[in-house]
Amino acid sequence: MTAMLEVKDIHCAYDHVPVIHGISLHVNEGEVVAILGANGAGKSTMMRTIAGLMHPTAGSISFDGSDITKMPASRSIKQGLSYVPEGRRLFAKLTVRENLELGAFSSGGGGDCVAERLEEMYELFPILKSRSNQTAETMSGGEQQMCAIARGLMSRPKLIMLDELSLGLQPSLVERVFETVVEIRKRGVTILLVEQMVQEALEIADRGYVLQTGRVVHEGSSQELLDSDEVRKAYMGM
Ligand code: ATP
Repeated sequence: MTAMLEVKDIHCAYDHVPVIHGISLHVNEGEVVAILGANGAGKSTMMRTIAGLMHPTAGSISFDGSDITKMPASRSIKQGLSYVPEGRRLFAKLTVRENLELGAFSSGGGGDCVAERLEEMYELFPILKSRSNQTAETMSGGEQQMCAIARGLMSRPKLIMLDELSLGLQPSLVERVFETVVEIRKRGVTILLVEQMVQEALEIADRGYVLQTGRVVHEGSSQELLDSDEVRKAYMGM
């Protein structure tokens, strides 16, 4: 089976300082795959590189049959690859609805389909419907995270990349956000997520990769990683 996303031996650097030293990973259609690891392991750099916000210094990335190694984010989103960055990055002064509409326009979608997509998002996140005319900055952290995910889904992606959804959220909201990921998967969207909450992420993922200083140090099914003494000691405090 050909993977939907295939990352082959990529290297990345900031100002010629290498931070990713040859990472390979793949995501099959319909899977939820987690990228795990401590601060500074290179998780966000991986995501930004796949999204096309930066380009690898070596290696290749293919998505849905196309080589996207050097493709800018503005084009890969039109191919069906959406990225929800760490820290949400909503437009604070725009309303929830306006933020969501921008998610549709960035993929080249406009006009009639926007209203239809908005309705889909309001069905998935009812709280956003009641907050639709409220500016993003006036919402709670959990609501903002829902809005950021919904904006990422407005382009109707085949694969969505979710970076540190749990960051800064209280435990009850973390659970709610992870339930949402399960719901998105049921709707047929393939998911690559980055998390520091290793146990919670593996409970909803099929497989995972653990990064450490720019390399994959463990990979396997979620159950294998949950059962691994090394992973439990290093990343779950057990
Ligand atoms: P975190 O959860 O803290 O975001 P991470 O696993 O996502 O961690 P990255 O943000 O990808 O890690 O960082 C990997 C390495 O790259 C780190 O050493 C970091 O200091 C460095 N780095 C990240 N962003 C930049 C940047 N814009 N300029 C220079 N170095 C960077």
